[in-house]
Amino acid sequence: MDAELGMTCVDCGGTLHPLSYPPEEGWEPGDVVAYRCPDCNERFDIVLPDPDEEGTGDWAGQ
Ligand SMILES: [Zn+2]
Repeated sequence: MDAELGMTCVDCGGTLHPLSYPPEEGWEPGDVVAYRCPDCNERFDIVLPDPDEEGTGDWAGQ
């Protein structure tokens, strides 16, 4: 699966960029992807949700 790119920083509204490169087979649910906001330098560690799991909310709906 692909990590969600272009998420919005909750602090300043900037665009988050992943700090780590995806593995060859892509990210898997449960992987932790570190993002950094280039505008305020805040770091976010985001656990990728399992798309097969109900109740994960609208994480990918940013
Ligand atoms: Zn920010």
